[in-house]
Amino acid sequence: MKVLSVIVPCYNEEENVSYFYEELMKQEAALEQRKIGLELIYVDDGSGDRTVEEVKKLYEKDKRVHLVSFSRNFGKEAGIYAGLKKASGEYVVLMDADLQDPPSLLPEMLHYLEEEGYDSVATRRVTRKGEPVIRSFFARRFYALMKRISHTEIVDGARDYRLMKRKVVDAILSMTEYNRFTKGIFGWVGFETKWLEYENIERTKGETKWNFWKLFLYSLDGILAFSTMPLAFVSIIGLVFCLLAFILIVFTIVRTVIFGDPTSGWPSLVCIISLISGVQLLCLGIVGQYMAKMYMEVKNRPIYLIKEEF
Ligand code: UDP
Ligand code: MG
Repeated sequence: MKVLSVIVPCYNEEENVSYFYEELMKQEAALEQRKIGLELIYVDDGSGDRTVEEVKKLYEKDKRVHLVSFSRNFGKEAGIYAGLKKASGEYVVLMDADLQDPPSLLPEMLHYLEEEGYDSVATRRVTRKGEPVIRSFFARRFYALMKRISHTEIVDGARDYRLMKRKVVDAILSMTEYNRFTKGIFGWVGFETKWLEYENIERTKGETKWNFWKLFLYSLDGILAFSTMPLAFVSIIGLVFCLLAFILIVFTIVRTVIFGDPTSGWPSLVCIISLISGVQLLCLGIVGQYMAKMYMEVKNRPIYLIKEEF
């Protein structure tokens, strides 16, 4: 009998833990029909509420429930990695605790894996209903930009809700980088992927952990992790300014030779110096961002630390 490991990253989801369990169990019959057993892994990402107690309560009545509890909040990406590591199933699926990833899609997803021969089934939401307009706008811009500057496919509206075969899981686990931009990692490993689309579902209970600023920083992480185009951009700017300077030098020499050298042009000089210093600092900043990421990678710190697990 094959086993399906369900990984649920949880950060302050006390209201959702058991609710999620109940909703998932509604799919049990469909899984049994396919002769697939279940294994449910909650990854507690340093929650400050009763999430861990709720999981333990579930464990009391169902030994297929497992827990990996972090020593502090390490972020969802770390949670996903820990869950994938813990999973023992032939099939693995990632789901949010807030039921924004409907378990009712599971039978269809399994169909694509088992009958159609796909290696993984991913989901994307086609609407962004219930989301602030500005956030949707910038999210779209981000995906459009990524399409141009990265070779890795990062799909607009893709959720982390994904069902994978063991080989895909192993491929993801082989990527041990510290800066884990999961959406990019999925694209990077490749494999035959079927995309399912559905309308956005709003979170049932509790609150989202994302605000605009966090999302903005997250998108920068994505760019830094999966594109080196900003570095090329820096070089191009440098080249353009060198050319400009060369033209100016020639212009100044010619003008001096023809018209003599009246000492003026202080304001323009200040403007030029300010502009070029600004551009230089910007470029230095971009290079610095990559260096910061490299610094974190080189330290080789663990991606997460476990406080408790069963
Ligand atoms: N999550 C996590 N660690 C974090 C933030 C979120 O494990 O630092 C989990 C959270 O409990 C939920 C999932 O990641 O199960 C998605 O989070 P959320 O619903 O807040 O994100 P959204 O759906 O709004 O993108
Ligand atoms: Mg959510």
